[in-house]
Amino acid sequence: MSASLPASVDYLVIGAGVHGLSTARSLAERGEEVLVIDKSKVAAGASGIACGVVRNNYYQPAMAELMAACVEMWEADAEVLNYHSSGYIALGPESQRGDLEEVFERQQRIGYDSELHTGEADVMAHMKTLYPDWRAPGLTVCLHEHVGGFAFNKESMHGLADLGRAAGASIIEGVEVTGFVRDGSGAVTSVQTSSGEIAIGKEVVVAVGPWIAGMWEMLELPDRLDVRQPDGSLTEDLPMWTYWYLQEGELGLPPETLDTAAGKPSPVLHVDSDAPLHADDGTLITDEPWGVYFKPDRKSVQGGAAPIQLGTEFDVDPYPTGTVNDDFGQMWASSLSHCLERFEGTSSKFIDTRSGGVGAFTVDNFPVFDRMAPNVFVAADSNHGYKMLAVGREIASVLVGEHSTLLAPFSYERFSTGDLHPVSNSPYPWS
Ligand SMILES: Cc1cc2nc3c(=O)[nH]c(=O)nc-3n(C[C@H](O)[C@H](O)[C@H](O)COP(=O)(O)OP(=O)(O)OC[C@H]3O[C@@H](n4cnc5c(N)ncnc54)[C@H](O)[C@@H]3O)c2cc1C
Repeated sequence: MSASLPASVDYLVIGAGVHGLSTARSLAERGEEVLVIDKSKVAAGASGIACGVVRNNYYQPAMAELMAACVEMWEADAEVLNYHSSGYIALGPESQRGDLEEVFERQQRIGYDSELHTGEADVMAHMKTLYPDWRAPGLTVCLHEHVGGFAFNKESMHGLADLGRAAGASIIEGVEVTGFVRDGSGAVTSVQTSSGEIAIGKEVVVAVGPWIAGMWEMLELPDRLDVRQPDGSLTEDLPMWTYWYLQEGELGLPPETLDTAAGKPSPVLHVDSDAPLHADDGTLITDEPWGVYFKPDRKSVQGGAAPIQLGTEFDVDPYPTGTVNDDFGQMWASSLSHCLERFEGTSSKFIDTRSGGVGAFTVDNFPVFDRMAPNVFVAADSNHGYKMLAVGREIASVLVGEHSTLLAPFSYERFSTGDLHPVSNSPYPWS
């Protein structure tokens, strides 16, 4: 809803996606005065187009701990957030076995409810129990998370906005930030917008998703940097931001098509494979490693695969900026058929809808959650973030002077100290 901008506010949050809304909610719950502004509207960015998968399959200890906290928050407000606790299953070939074993062991240590199957026969047996027509060959590791699942993107963000408003946060749509006025210390004293200037009493939170590079420049932060590696060496002059296009689509089949043998809604399925992928008519689609994810949606089966790297320069407006490659539909539908016989012959049902979109990834592909000026906190999640519901709560705690052990590993300083996150064997920058 459009309303006039007040002359001043204690906390100004820029961006009404998951991080902006959840930070505002938590600040308001602490009794703070907080206003969210968005140049468009609630859920206009990546949060409103995300596949909506909520999982904890992360190889990095810091990511795993943060995700456990996030999943708890999804489960606590499931109804208002349109969240479905269906679980999540990750399957991989031998090259990913060690990583998933480590992930599983860590999940057991932090009490995260999951089970692991290894070896092709055990994996096949587990999957056939759930889906009698499961047929994907060559998968030797299966991590089945019994919590997590998915939420409906836009509805969940509107639910989050409602929780924020109920706690006392204000949200004004249609107001674009165009600049910052700063004092000698670098602190922001006021923010310039398309609706005039607003004075800042305490802090600004920047939560602009894929628009981060423009805001980073406005804050006079470096677009290239040297990164200290864990072995002490320096990798010079790397780009801070790289864009990827996440290709997603839908099969126009009822979501129940994916139900389990017990007649329950399917967990989210994520398959990485090195087996050759063929179309139903036998045509080879790829003999390179490939990966897909899929889940039930409102009226269809939805998911994605084959992200496209776009480089370091990209105009994010209008968002999303493109659609899928011509061959994506057949590749994605064929991979579903590769896994489950029920999808054989259904590639003609592929619908190239307005799903898929752009993400801005950091130099190490992990989030930066940090204060980047004396009173400016930046939430730049490197496209991991729809599931990261707890980040806003943690940001709010830091803003009021507390310490967050969950956010500390995501400081910007890690690029100069070499305290980087370990890298998994997954082919994708988000695992
Ligand atoms: C296709 C796709 C699928 C994905 N699937 C998943 C998934 O399944 N699970 C998962 O965890 N993550 C997923 N992600 C990643 C996730 O969507 C993002 O990491 C997350 O939503 C980012 O949230 P955000 O709050 O930072 O930004 P956004 O949700 O992008 O919100 C930013 C807001 O800032 C506003 N804004 C921008 N510039 C300005 C300005 N100058 N002034 C005022 N307002 C401004 C925008 O209008 C926008 O509303 C996916 C991403 C994509 C693209």
